[in-house]
Amino acid sequence: MKNFIAEFKKFIMRGNVMDMAVGIIIGGAFTAIVTSLVNDIIMPIISAIFGGLSFEAWNIALGSGEEPPMLNLGTFVAAIINFLLIALVIFIIIKTINKMREKQEEEPAAPTTKKCPLCLSEIPIEAKRCACCTADLTEFEEIKE
Ligand SMILES: [Zn+2]
Repeated sequence: MKNFIAEFKKFIMRGNVMDMAVGIIIGGAFTAIVTSLVNDIIMPIISAIFGGLSFEAWNIALGSGEEPPMLNLGTFVAAIINFLLIALVIFIIIKTINKMREKQEEEPAAPTTKKCPLCLSEIPIEAKRCACCTADLTEFEEIKE
């Protein structure tokens, strides 16, 4: 039992588990916002465009009687629109993050070559002797600095 608790503690203390938990909680809260956007804003507008048709009333009764089984087509369509909106918003967020990341990576890398002061050819920055004109570069080092 002690081993089990230690293992469980190790599991939940791993960074990616905590990140995932935060992601799920924020994702859940975010889903509520998008659901409200669909149900409370977008669907009424679509209903108004289609002449006051309510999506919840868009269903097909299977059979007759007091409470027949219903195909709730309107609710299903609302769920699809909901999903497409969430996917679109997440796509835009990821695209924005990637763009910001790309901008950070565009910083120029440190130079790995230098010009030989005598023959002006490109040689490794650590070179003590030029590979092209064989000049000793140690005496030029101080001038350059
Ligand atoms: Zn040279």
